[in-house]
Amino acid sequence: MIFSEKDRLTFSPFFPDKGSRAYFMAGPCSAESEEQMLETARHLAQTGIDLFRAGVWKPRTQPNSFEGIGEDALKWLATVKSETGLAVSTEVANASHVELALKYGVDVLWIGARSTVSPFTVQEIADSLAGVDIPVMIKNPINPDVRLWIGAIERIAKANVQKIAAIHRGFSSFGPGHFRNQPRWQIAIELKRLFPDLTLICDSSHISGRRDLLEEVAQKALDLNYDGIMLEVHPNPDQALSDPQQQITPEEFRAIKSRLIFRPADSENPHFKQSLESLRRQMDEIDEEILSLLARRMGLADEIGLCKKENNISILQTRRWSEILERNMEQGLAMGLNPEFITNISKAVHQESINRQHEVMRKPD
Ligand code: PEP
Ligand code: MN
Repeated sequence: MIFSEKDRLTFSPFFPDKGSRAYFMAGPCSAESEEQMLETARHLAQTGIDLFRAGVWKPRTQPNSFEGIGEDALKWLATVKSETGLAVSTEVANASHVELALKYGVDVLWIGARSTVSPFTVQEIADSLAGVDIPVMIKNPINPDVRLWIGAIERIAKANVQKIAAIHRGFSSFGPGHFRNQPRWQIAIELKRLFPDLTLICDSSHISGRRDLLEEVAQKALDLNYDGIMLEVHPNPDQALSDPQQQITPEEFRAIKSRLIFRPADSENPHFKQSLESLRRQMDEIDEEILSLLARRMGLADEIGLCKKENNISILQTRRWSEILERNMEQGLAMGLNPEFITNISKAVHQESINRQHEVMRKPD
C-alpha cells in the first residue's frame, strides 16, 4: 500500500450534490471550428450538462494526424462560456498549456492518459498550478498501473488543488478487442477503495471506441457508483477530425443521458437494510467455507509437493492441469458460472498450488 492511514489523501466533493446525481461532461473530442463548438455547446446547454469539454492540443498516436488548433481554439472555448454559460474544460500537457488555459478563463483542466504516465510531465503541470486553485481531472495512465494514477493525483493534490477528480478512460492493449481501451474495472474499484471520497468519472467514449457500447459502459460505471460520465459529442461525428467512430450527435447524447439511471450508494429504507444484511451474512459464511476449503486444498498441494520431491518429479503436470481446467469448466458451466470467471479462479488456485509445491521443493530436507 502506498499511503498509510495517517497520510491518506482526502478530497472535497468535485461538485456540490455529489452522491445524489450523476455529473455530466460532454463536448467534442477536438475543437475544430467556432461553429462546431458553438453548435455543440448550444445543444448541450439545452440538454443540461455540468461541463463542456474540447481538446485544444491533441496528443495523437501518429504524427500527421490532426493535432489540435491550439491557442485560437481557447478563444472559441471562451465564446462558448460567454454565449451558453457552460463551464468549459480542456486538456493540458505542459506548463505553457496551463498558462494559456488560465489566460482564456478555462474553468477545469484535465490531464490526459499519455501525460499521467509521465511523472515529469505531471510534476511540471503541478508546479505550474502553484497558487492557482482550478479544478483538475486526472485520467488514468494508458498502462494498467493504479500506483502511477495515484502518484499523479498525489502530485496535483500537493500543489494545493482543492477540487480533484479522476477519469477512468480504460487501458491500452495489444491487438483489437471488444473495447478500444480495456476497462479493467478492478483498477478503478481499487482507486475508489483507497480514496472513497475522490470523485470518479467514466470516460465511456475512450473506453468504448464505438457508439454502440457507450450507453452500456456508462450505465455500468454508474452502477459501480461512479460520480459521473464523460461523452464525446460532435454535430457531425462521421466528419470529426479525431475519434470519429466514438463521437455522437447532441441528440444522441440527450437520448443516452435521459436513459441512464443514477442509483445512490445507500438507502435508509429499513427493509432494504434488513434484506441486504441477511444476504450478506449468508455470503460471509460462504466466504469462510471457501477459504477453509482452499486451505485444505493447499494442504493437499503441500503433500503432493513432498511426494513429487521424494520421487524427483517436476511440479507442473500439463496433462493433469488441462484435465482440471476442462472438468472445472464443464462443472462450473453446468452450475451457471461465467466461463471467464471459471478460468480465472482455476488459474489462481493452480498457480498457488504450484507456489506451495515450489516452497516444499526448495526447503532443505
Ligand atoms: C481526450 O479526452 O480527448 C483524450 C485525448 O483522451 P485520453 O487522454 O484519454 O486518450
Ligand atoms: Mn477523443
